[in-house]
Amino acid sequence: TVRTRFAPSPTGLLHIGNARAALFNYLYAKHHHGQFLLRIEDTDRERSTQKAVDVILDGLAWMGLTPDEEPVYQSTRIKRHQEVALHLLETGKAYKCFCTQEELADMRAKAQAEGKAPRYNGYWRDRDPSEAPEGAPYTVRIKAPHEGKTVIHDLVQGEVTVANIELDDMIILRADGTPTYQHAVVCDDHDMDITHVIRGDDHLTNTFRQLMIYRAMGWNIPHFAHLPLIHGPDGAKLSKRHGASSVVEFRDEGYLPEALCNYLLRLGWGHGDDEILSREEQIKLFDLDGVGRSPSRMDYAKLLHVNGYWLRQANDARLTQDIISRLSEQEGFVLDPIHQQRILALMPGLKERAKSIVELTQNAAFLCMEPPLLFNDKAQKLLNEENCAMLSKLASQLATLTSFTKEAINHLLHQFAETEGLKLGKVAQPLRAAVTGSTMSPGIDDTLLALGKEEVLARLGAVTN
Ligand code: GLU
Repeated sequence: TVRTRFAPSPTGLLHIGNARAALFNYLYAKHHHGQFLLRIEDTDRERSTQKAVDVILDGLAWMGLTPDEEPVYQSTRIKRHQEVALHLLETGKAYKCFCTQEELADMRAKAQAEGKAPRYNGYWRDRDPSEAPEGAPYTVRIKAPHEGKTVIHDLVQGEVTVANIELDDMIILRADGTPTYQHAVVCDDHDMDITHVIRGDDHLTNTFRQLMIYRAMGWNIPHFAHLPLIHGPDGAKLSKRHGASSVVEFRDEGYLPEALCNYLLRLGWGHGDDEILSREEQIKLFDLDGVGRSPSRMDYAKLLHVNGYWLRQANDARLTQDIISRLSEQEGFVLDPIHQQRILALMPGLKERAKSIVELTQNAAFLCMEPPLLFNDKAQKLLNEENCAMLSKLASQLATLTSFTKEAINHLLHQFAETEGLKLGKVAQPLRAAVTGSTMSPGIDDTLLALGKEEVLARLGAVTN
């Protein structure tokens, strides 16, 4: 069975490129009825705080990419990495290198002077370790093949070849006994029975080095798929200056996880013209052959468009909850269950008019304010003397309504406009300004209904007195 994994290093961020790798691993596994695993590469003990790990766990949970087994923490596996290194030493596939920092620096300087790539010269490769001073510290290096070439049949990049002469005897265990990234990854992928390694193409060169370990151990080699990176709209590497680039930022900016996943999938994965795909459809359709080889460019406008679609599909109670929690973090909102009820009541209209939850929150905020409201410029202009006099009259009629229903409100507004000799809009716009503080909101009837009679009268009272 197919087993994929997402193997992030906890840095405190879940970059969108990594999030997409996680999504592709998840979809590939699910498409093939396999398992999706998570490995936290927390060997850098200083950076790998619990907080940094939580960022990853929360981000994955938010995106709905739940691993099928408990996460594996790489730092708990160091003994095993050492054991494998020892085995390679014993079988003569690796050797102890006693070179000092100075000697290695000289080697690098010499290579540089000759205009060559710096590489280890293999000094200890065939030398007797007893030549080293007693108790001298050593690293463990793997013996790189000197002849031939290594070919990868990458499921995205196609056939990629490196002449083995390009590979040097890389370190697998440091002098302090800790494993290097290359070594730990191979041991873990092997022990976790990973069949497909799907990751960013910045790891392609690592793959050639990692293959040395698989071969030396005689282990099965997994399939590899290296995904192109995500670039900014200008073609440069995606960074903060382009806009949101980590999962938390997208969430804070009001994107829904289903929209982000939908967009990230369609970015660089071809499937006809269907822009919108549900998770079920994604699983059904996803395969690696549709993944393009060139970097994709982030298109924030398109993401926003996709977000608008998913926003309209989203459950009203869920969106209401999100808005309430966002508002409660803003100053000036004392939130009661009544506010939640109002937002929920108006949600069908609100979500037609917003593309992000941030926008939705802004548009819903008036429901949670105490009169007198803050009025924007357009609203302020509408609340002139004449209109306020009209609203005062209207208020006294609204006050007589015994059943405050949508029908009753509409009936009253139409009648009022008619007897005043005004077009409906000339009544509705100042009314909207008075009760929302702006000139845009869902239908005036729905808006009044969501606020409730008492609140509408309080808000009208605040502008007409
Ligand atoms: N931990 C590595 C990273 O975050 C990824 C390792 C891998 O996928 O092989 O870039």
